[in-house]
Amino acid sequence: MKVPQVGAVSAVIALVLTTSGCGGDEETKGISIGIKFDQPGIGFREADGSFTGFDVDVATYVAKRLGYSADRVEFKQVYSNDRELLLQYNEVDFVAASYSINNKRKEKVDFAGPYFVAHQDLLVRATDTSITKAEDLNSKRLCSVTGSTSAENIRTNLAPKASILELPGYSECLVALQENQADAMTTDNAILAGYVARKGNEGKFKLAGQSLSNENYGIGVKKGDKELQGKINDALRKMVEDGSWDRAVKKNFGPANFKYDPAPQVTAGS
Ligand code: GLU
Repeated sequence: MKVPQVGAVSAVIALVLTTSGCGGDEETKGISIGIKFDQPGIGFREADGSFTGFDVDVATYVAKRLGYSADRVEFKQVYSNDRELLLQYNEVDFVAASYSINNKRKEKVDFAGPYFVAHQDLLVRATDTSITKAEDLNSKRLCSVTGSTSAENIRTNLAPKASILELPGYSECLVALQENQADAMTTDNAILAGYVARKGNEGKFKLAGQSLSNENYGIGVKKGDKELQGKINDALRKMVEDGSWDRAVKKNFGPANFKYDPAPQVTAGS
């Protein structure tokens, strides 16, 4: 009869230990941030599991101003097409993922920012001489990403007759371009420049050098969360003021030899 009693006692001890463990977790509750994992220079998961890129640096800076040290930040992978959904379903606290502010998205989420201005451009194989401007795409196969402003802009304005291959992410488009399943891919110059410069890609691709749109990157928050939006706007202003923004663009875009715009005024929600 003694054996079950001992078992019962250890079960109680185990329960106490588990409960106190939970209390500890509560105190160190972190923040969950949606970023891209496959865009070098913007949001990238390195082979060792660390994260690099301008969006990562912006997100880390903002999180710190909100009271979360780097060890309490959890980065979750987002794709262009699921950014709104992840915010609507509270899967992430905010999204920093080359996320352009526009009216259609503002129906579902709110934005802080802008914190960066990029421009839509085209990426082709280095040997290609047939595509130099958007209209050239009308007789070509173009890869773009589902749920991106770039895909929408091509379909409705720039090259409506292009045959479009839509994939979930830009790294998939890059493979399609490399393997001759597409003649070009399109999205923001900041993203494309990162692929051109990536180790292993030297001499393989080139940018057309077009400025086909203005993409104002914002930080997406749950719709109606004015408090978080305001705090993030304050953090973004501070990041520009204290020189961290300059350091982050130089660090992340310098190696790609990418000529970026100066920091925009933070105006969202104000
Ligand atoms: N900035 C554009 C957008 O938000 C293209 C880049 C992306 O898909 O993340 O759709």
